[in-house]
Amino acid sequence: MREYIDNFGQILNVKKVAALYSILYNAVWQNRKKMSKNRVDVIVIGAGPAGVSAAVTLARAGKEVLLVDRSDNAGDKNVFGGCIYAKQTAEIFPSFWETAPVERSVTENRIYMLTDYDSTMFAHRYSSKGSYKAFTVLRSRWDRWCVEQAKKEGVYFAPKTLVKELLIDNGKILGIKTQYENFYSDIIIAADGVNSLIAKQAGLRKNFKDSDVTLNVKEVIKIPRERLEDRFNLDENDGCACKIIGGPLKNMFAMGFLYTNSDSISIGLGVSLDELKKHNLKPYELLDELKEHPSISPLIKDGEVLEYSAHMIPEGRYDSIPKVYDNRIMLAGDAAGFVDNLHFEGTNLAMLSGKLAAETAVFAIDKGDFSASTLSLYYKKLKDSIILKDLKTHNNTIPFLKHNINTITSLYPELACEFFDMLHSADEIPKRTKYRKFLSKVIKSGGIQKSLPLGMFALEKCLKK
Ligand SMILES: Cc1cc2nc3c(=O)[nH]c(=O)nc-3n(C[C@H](O)[C@H](O)[C@H](O)COP(=O)(O)OP(=O)(O)OC[C@H]3O[C@@H](n4cnc5c(N)ncnc54)[C@H](O)[C@@H]3O)c2cc1C
Repeated sequence: MREYIDNFGQILNVKKVAALYSILYNAVWQNRKKMSKNRVDVIVIGAGPAGVSAAVTLARAGKEVLLVDRSDNAGDKNVFGGCIYAKQTAEIFPSFWETAPVERSVTENRIYMLTDYDSTMFAHRYSSKGSYKAFTVLRSRWDRWCVEQAKKEGVYFAPKTLVKELLIDNGKILGIKTQYENFYSDIIIAADGVNSLIAKQAGLRKNFKDSDVTLNVKEVIKIPRERLEDRFNLDENDGCACKIIGGPLKNMFAMGFLYTNSDSISIGLGVSLDELKKHNLKPYELLDELKEHPSISPLIKDGEVLEYSAHMIPEGRYDSIPKVYDNRIMLAGDAAGFVDNLHFEGTNLAMLSGKLAAETAVFAIDKGDFSASTLSLYYKKLKDSIILKDLKTHNNTIPFLKHNINTITSLYPELACEFFDMLHSADEIPKRTKYRKFLSKVIKSGGIQKSLPLGMFALEKCLKK
């Protein structure tokens, strides 16, 4: 067997260093069953949040688990906004903020509504008082830390290992074929992200349709720590998360984001793939326009761009969710389409689904039955969790928002800016005349009439079980 002695971060050649290998192997695995004939209880494909969470849960239950990832270092190529959410992360890594490479604890959330030149910004600030909601992180550092924790729990980790296909014999999934060699297990958890080759080969999913994914672009911009804290009015270690609508993104199903890291800013946007094609838009040009907007450019002024990246996200519609289990296989995280795009939640659903898939695998292994009927427990767990509850609630929201996108991303920012402009301009026009003019504009533009159905729709979705 090619040697994945990853607890030492090395790949060793067994012929040359057989003796050393034997010592290392026994030291690491002395209390555990051997990974004989490249066989483990469960193979987890993909070391993102879903895969790590699954692997750790399995190792803690005493199962042998191989976690494989194509990257040289976990997280090297993984892209997100972003912030991770404390609740689901702490279920896997309790009190992780004490040792993990988190950037800042999010204590302020802002929503920017942009017109072409102006903006209205709403902000909500809270004091954490030791109970954290979310943290900004950089995936390259964060994912690497998570994998290190998984290895400490006894997970075999194979980096630089591209899974080429599932090994299937007579319809039975036996394991995986990598560019090096084959591995075998009773159960596969596919956590290989939005493009999941494995889900497609298993016949669980086809490619997502253009209308079911957004293309996201992002830059990390270096800003000295003190300057960043002054600009955002932040205490040390506190952070700010911003959502941005309108401006260069008006009249399209698109949203911008901005997160403060320790000494950098992550800024980017996501646009529905069908919108990009329809309007023949280039996402990087939109990002450049966003960065030049008069309300955004002062936030990133004099910064040095450290990194560019692009990535797809499933739009997270309940109706687009594929079958997520079959004989000997389960899908977790983005591979299954578990993203709440409206609330910028993905890592939390990935971690939770990874955990639920792993719990199901433990049940199946103890029962000695890896059939679809046993693994259907996974779907039951998903249905009882926030994952399917929330995605079901939002199912019609995305088409509804798309239908009303001009109102939300163009009319509302304009009216909000005009309202505050009217409120704060001291000039020779009598206030009564101003208010009348504004109200008549609101009525003529249909602002109120359009707000009512939007409000009713949102209320109805929240109240409906
Ligand atoms: C721009 C952007 C902003 C986002 N912002 C946020 C945010 O602020 N908060 C949030 O919670 N979520 C955010 N998300 C969503 C979030 O990033 C995803 O939902 C989450 O990363 C999904 O985790 P995952 O483990 O399912 O997949 P991924 O994180 O994509 O991990 C998949 C892993 O599988 C590996 N892999 C893939 N194919 C193979 C193969 N064939 N062989 C071996 N390995 C393979 C990859 O290398 C990767 O490590 C954002 C996403 C994007 C793109």
